[in-house]
Amino acid sequence: MPTLRKEIAEALERESLDLREISQLFRIREREVLDHLQHIAKSAHPKRLTMEPATCKRCGFSFKKRDRLSAPSRCPICKSESITPPRYQIVD
Ligand SMILES: [Zn+2]
Repeated sequence: MPTLRKEIAEALERESLDLREISQLFRIREREVLDHLQHIAKSAHPKRLTMEPATCKRCGFSFKKRDRLSAPSRCPICKSESITPPRYQIVD
């Protein structure tokens, strides 16, 4: 059965996507996308799910140390809530 989770994984092997793009592509909520991503992260082996970190649009701060897949809501440096969300991709 070609599950939705598998289809999301296949899309992420083709290109990097952020939460909103995946949400729109598969017509599911971002919360559901996150749930799928968490499972994909565990099951992608031998490939792996990578995350291009979120960045603050105002000061350029990069959320490199963030382990959580979700998008941060505000910058710890300048407190701006204008954040470029992380992008996910599956790589070999
Ligand atoms: Zn900032």
